Amino acid sequence: MSPLPYKSGRHFLQIPGPTAVPERILRAIDQQVIDHRGPTFQALGKKVLAGVKEVFQTQHPVVIYPASGTGAWEAALVNTLSAGDRVLMVETGHFAFLWHKMATKLGLKPELISTDWRHGVDAAVIGAALADDKAHTIKAVCVVHNETSTGVTSNIAAVRKAIDQAGHPALLLVDTISSLGSVEYRHDEWGVDVTVGGSQKGLMLPPGLSFNALSPKALAASKTSTLPKSFWSWEEMIESNKTGFFPYTPATTMLYGLREAIAMLREEGYDNVFSRHQRHAEATRRAVKAWGLEILCANPAEYSPVLTAVMMPAGHDADRLREVILNAFDMSLGMGLSKLKGKIFRIGHLGDFNDLTLMGTLSGVEMGLELAGVPHQKGGADAAMQYLAQCAAQKSAARMAA
Ligand SMILES: *Cc1c(COP(=O)(O)O)cnc(C)c1O
Repeated sequence: MSPLPYKSGRHFLQIPGPTAVPERILRAIDQQVIDHRGPTFQALGKKVLAGVKEVFQTQHPVVIYPASGTGAWEAALVNTLSAGDRVLMVETGHFAFLWHKMATKLGLKPELISTDWRHGVDAAVIGAALADDKAHTIKAVCVVHNETSTGVTSNIAAVRKAIDQAGHPALLLVDTISSLGSVEYRHDEWGVDVTVGGSQKGLMLPPGLSFNALSPKALAASKTSTLPKSFWSWEEMIESNKTGFFPYTPATTMLYGLREAIAMLREEGYDNVFSRHQRHAEATRRAVKAWGLEILCANPAEYSPVLTAVMMPAGHDADRLREVILNAFDMSLGMGLSKLKGKIFRIGHLGDFNDLTLMGTLSGVEMGLELAGVPHQKGGADAAMQYLAQCAAQKSAARMAA
């Protein structure tokens, strides 16, 4: 077999995670490994353990695992719950469904509220289910903040409010794997008990780190939870972390990268990072609408700032379009997962991303639609360009005025 020929220029990795890693982070990671029980590591450990709290907007401990996001999902469940516990989950899409499957495998009794995969979590349905549970046998509510399979974001503060209004003590567990570092998120203020995060999406790092941000209530639950846990146990982690260390070998080079990612978010300013993602999402939607295609997310209030899922016209296969675009323009787009396979493609616009990266991305999609013979109207990339130019003009006018 001959190797694939060299492709000049940068590959466009426009799946909604993993995302392209910025040079600064690649350079930060490209350093010699150090003794993870020595003083140099200790300073690094203290710095990232403190810094990562601001990413989650929390004052409480954040546990860092050398694992993908799936590991941190498991950690959230096994540290807080016991065999047979009832757990309320909402099937917003593929990822929510996988978390539910994991809960079943771990011996929990999850109940799945279904959706049409085009809407986010309906807090009122959660509130009603909890109000019915007079004996308080439901121990946790699990929701996905940004459902990466559909491009739909859920209102976490509303879920907290519904739990409180039902006067129910259930814990609130939230998956923010694809929104962390790209979409505003407030662990403490929103009253989340465990937030699950990952490194390879909005945080701009390679795959390999994941997180549990905790609340005092989650920590208290971990003292009585009886699901087996060893590698995932918060207890040893938090004890070691107090001095900047880890109970087992941490992913040292990834922590160099995390330190750099936090510095970059701070330099750009979190509010600027969040509004940049909103701007690119809006520009993308304008392109999709100009093409005459439909966005999967049915509620504009729940449009994802980090990805846009686009529905294919009937009779046209999204995976064929993705293949055409990969071959012709060296760009990877996200596929439709499980029941959406072939029916949608997903444009990731998150992480280390700017206006011109978006224009390259949308131009590739528009050329691909033509090449693959997918019925559409021209002018999507133009519509996005007009919007971005307008935003840039507003920004420079504001700079002049200041
Ligand atoms: C990517 C993703 C996961 C899975 O994370 P891995 O790092 O692949 O284990 C879970 N939930 C959401 C919302 C995701 O986007």
